[in-house]
Amino acid sequence: MRVSNDLSIHRIRTELTNSGSSLWEQYPALLDPCSPDHNEFRAFVRDSALKDPSAVADQITHLKRAFATPSTLPPLAGVLVGVKDNICTAGRPTTCASPVLDQFQSPYDATAVRLLQEAGAIVVGKTNLDEFGMGSLGLFSSHGAVINPVPYLDRKARGDDQGEGPVHPLYSAGGSSSGSAAAVAVGQCDVALGTDTGGSVRLPASYCGVVGFKPSYGRISRWGVVAYANSLDTVGVLTRSVQDARTVYDIIAQADPQDPTALDDPAREQLRTTVMPEDLAEARTGWSLSNLKGCRVGVPQEYFVKELSDDVTALWRRSMAQLTARGATVVPVSCPHTRYALSSYYILAPAEASSNLARYDGVRYGHGHAVADGGPDSAHEHASRLPTLGKLISPKTLYGAVRSHGFGPEVQRRILLGTYVLTASAYEDYFLQAQKVRRLVQRDFDHVFRRPNVLRPDSLTSAAAQGVDVLLTPTALSHAPRLPTIPSVGQSAGSSPKGIAMADVNGYVNDIMTVPSSLAGLPAISVPFGRVAADDHGVTLPIGLQLIAQYGDETTLLNVAEALEAVNSDSP
Ligand code: GLN
Repeated sequence: MRVSNDLSIHRIRTELTNSGSSLWEQYPALLDPCSPDHNEFRAFVRDSALKDPSAVADQITHLKRAFATPSTLPPLAGVLVGVKDNICTAGRPTTCASPVLDQFQSPYDATAVRLLQEAGAIVVGKTNLDEFGMGSLGLFSSHGAVINPVPYLDRKARGDDQGEGPVHPLYSAGGSSSGSAAAVAVGQCDVALGTDTGGSVRLPASYCGVVGFKPSYGRISRWGVVAYANSLDTVGVLTRSVQDARTVYDIIAQADPQDPTALDDPAREQLRTTVMPEDLAEARTGWSLSNLKGCRVGVPQEYFVKELSDDVTALWRRSMAQLTARGATVVPVSCPHTRYALSSYYILAPAEASSNLARYDGVRYGHGHAVADGGPDSAHEHASRLPTLGKLISPKTLYGAVRSHGFGPEVQRRILLGTYVLTASAYEDYFLQAQKVRRLVQRDFDHVFRRPNVLRPDSLTSAAAQGVDVLLTPTALSHAPRLPTIPSVGQSAGSSPKGIAMADVNGYVNDIMTVPSSLAGLPAISVPFGRVAADDHGVTLPIGLQLIAQYGDETTLLNVAEALEAVNSDSP
């Protein structure tokens, strides 16, 4: 019987099949942790979690009727899903954690959300994030900073009954898909969707001890995903196991005529045959759990950066030894342009963002802020007066007012940076150089992988015979950092909370491990791998290791990730 929120998708299905429709009766109780009363970690955006339980009750009634016989159960029947609040959902707000979209409600579902619902999943709420996906610590949200639930879960597991809610000191849940990672970790949903532009699925997964999978660029439709940087944005999934990530990925990785950047069916077929030629296919489907014989795992030397903490390096080395013990060959490789990747990303992503965010001008979106000096709350009250105001306020005043009130400090910083690098005088020195670096980073990867990159025809012949199947690196430089203050709701969007690392450029270094594979559009996954001490009082926090594979080679990536996951459970 399904009595807790920690079952795998496979178990949920088995239990639904075995116990028939009676199991659906349990769902209301199961959904209780997702009610607005239980949002201690701010995993969900304000009021979005089961705001209207009757809508979910209707969904359950529908599922119960539609799939009365177990044989007709769809693959995600009864699976509870959280959706990052920059992914559109009909009938619920999509705020992007920004005051500028405080009142926005999408008229349609994103393709990924539609596919999940068609497969029987139940959307329980929208998850919190850094505003528009910009951030790595979950701090820049108009709904308040997300709090890492791991210390609380540990206390609960020890049986210490000191009440519900966060344990002090507070730790970051990572970002920008912070709410998705926290909600999965705490069991408020089984699966969550996130978006990963430069690491936003993998980094919070590492900090919260869950799996975070970013497929190749173009695998999952971006229709209905609010754009941050189009050439990098990728929908990803956060789950409690690699197997669950694979199940969800298989359902949502579909061609979509609504999104021209999503791979069409012939391209998917070409990938299948080129990246997975028959001779390798057999060996690679066998790579799993106990046997990695013939699998070549590359360790890029450039990822041993000075900022990497010693305990993460120690776990990384331990994983190499354990994979070797399972038959893999671990080889050092070089990706020489890695050191420029972060600078290139922080030119290209803001450049694209500055263009994308131009649409929030107070006319099409964000109108309430034209006169809202008090921020989001007073915006509600003024919105209805827009037609009159439109005549009274000049466009210049309107844009200025909307954009200064409507965007938080980090988003404003990115817009300024992005606008600057696209100006005529800076374009060649910054934007063009960053594009060139991006190409060099892609080439580095193509030189080390055994399989060719179908996106670059010249690599079809030059793929390294002695190349590797996957790369193994840490996901983050350290365990989750401490939240320096207890940011309150709304604080981070309008003013800069004191002492927050992301508020200066050094904070961007957090993304150093995840950005290179984003620039190259490669599939990458963060798998929990051990714990490290976070303080002198016995608090330990999870660490994630990252695997990266050639473009389109999700099969190899997920097989090796399952082996890494199994190795982790062997660990002391
Ligand atoms: N931290 C990175 C940024 O702020 C990545 C964000 C993301 O992947 N959405 O741009």
